[in-house]
Amino acid sequence: MHIYQNGINGKLVTSNTDKHVAVYNPATGEQSSSLPLSTNTEVSEAVAAAKAALPAWLDMPALKRSKFMFKFKQLLDDRADDLARAISKEQGKTHDDALGELQRGIEIVEYACGIPGLLKGEFSRNVGPAIDSFSDRQPLGVVAGITPFNFPAMVPMWMFPIAIACGNTFVLKPSERDPAAPMLVWELFHEAGFPPGVFNIVHGDKGAVDAILDHDDVKAVSFVGSTPIAEYIYTRGTAAGKRVQALGGAKNHMIIMPDADMDQVADALMGAGYGSAGERCMAISVAVAIGDQTADKLIEKLKPRVESLKIGPSTDSDAEMGPVITKMHQEKVFSYIDKGVEEGAELLVDGRGFKLQGYENGYFVGGTLFDGITTDMTIYKEEIFGPVLQVARVADYETAVDMINDHEYGNGTAIFTRDGDAARDFANRIEVGMVGVNVPIPVPVAYHSFGGWKRSLFGDHSIYGPEGIHFYTRLKTITTRWPTGIKQGAVFTFPT
Ligand code: NAD
Repeated sequence: MHIYQNGINGKLVTSNTDKHVAVYNPATGEQSSSLPLSTNTEVSEAVAAAKAALPAWLDMPALKRSKFMFKFKQLLDDRADDLARAISKEQGKTHDDALGELQRGIEIVEYACGIPGLLKGEFSRNVGPAIDSFSDRQPLGVVAGITPFNFPAMVPMWMFPIAIACGNTFVLKPSERDPAAPMLVWELFHEAGFPPGVFNIVHGDKGAVDAILDHDDVKAVSFVGSTPIAEYIYTRGTAAGKRVQALGGAKNHMIIMPDADMDQVADALMGAGYGSAGERCMAISVAVAIGDQTADKLIEKLKPRVESLKIGPSTDSDAEMGPVITKMHQEKVFSYIDKGVEEGAELLVDGRGFKLQGYENGYFVGGTLFDGITTDMTIYKEEIFGPVLQVARVADYETAVDMINDHEYGNGTAIFTRDGDAARDFANRIEVGMVGVNVPIPVPVAYHSFGGWKRSLFGDHSIYGPEGIHFYTRLKTITTRWPTGIKQGAVFTFPT
């Protein structure tokens, strides 16, 4: 059985722990490897390696740092197919979906290649007699990332390329469910020639995370995962004096106005609701139809398509979605479907009985569609993170806006309409961080930044793009007087 190793100081290192967890192939339910729950000493070794690499790394001209990043980007492109397979074999998503995830991650690396220009500071000559002032942003030191299972390559790439390009060194604690992709990324990073210690990976669960949060030498933590853990990371990390950005869960609504193009809406909902088996923090899980007529038209188009979803392992090139991540998660999604029925929602397509020949032990959930969702239902309030789409019928646009604004999450949302006034009003008033107008999954491109509102993000910074640069650096402003020969005498008033 393959046992994962940590990646510390440029080398693969076997953990000394006696605690391991199984990593599965979710399509078959078979264990594919084993992952060590690293000890606190091993976390400290990773942080120490990052700290030792720091002085030379932050002193290196940004232009030279970016040359490594260019090489890394090329290797990621060259090995995209292998990386996508590494993602799919443990995460379960289809090969094309994995390639899409990877592409979005590589775009962050491309953005990080431009770091010399991005870090360029400001200069003001003659702010006083013979006095100049300049400011620039400097790296924080050793920073860490803790990432979820659903994007095992992309989400780490939201973090470390920017942190490292800025001059920090990095410790990643990837998800314990699918470490293959981050390990391959780590290998390519070193093949690109980056010095050892700049990027380290340590495996584990809560124990390793706590060791990171409590370590004095870790100056900042980026987290992406579920909301209860995000809140915990933010509270514990900031209490320890660290800068923390913690991105949490979601419940993303799409408003369907009566004037929307219903074929376009159905296409959008199929992809955004069921792509990646609904395991995306930007998945649409609630379709809010304005008026019964709109809802009826929508369901007429949607229901047969949900019934005929092509579900299969990532090796099936026809599959539109794969399994969910674990048996436990499969059972959790089933129990949410039970709960929806119990609470009075109308189950139009039931994914509980889905079986795939030859993959009977895989963690598959069939596409599921509910109608008649109301805001008091558990399945509306909580994030299900599975292929379960819910249709809510509301009388008018204002009710839909209130519904979204009242929800505890505020990650992504969308409106489908041909009415520019409604679209503009929606974009202005909706209390959600990422908004799509006729775009179902409005994940910002690499040179913008990604982040939700309300309980979808704890902290002051969104992730990657310009906000990522701000998160991983701090501002320094320097005021200089040259030549030193000018004598003013002692000045006791405030300098003006
Ligand atoms: P998770 O919160 O269970 O795990 C995320 C990370 O936290 C993992 O590395 C895990 O090892 C660690 N962790 C788990 N329990 C912990 C604990 N008690 N203490 C300390 N660390 C702990 O999330 P997941 O199941 O891997 O991922 C799915 C969740 O992530 C969903 O809620 C999804 O919405 C969210 N997500 C959010 C975004 C976003 O950008 N907002 C993106 C992707 C996923």
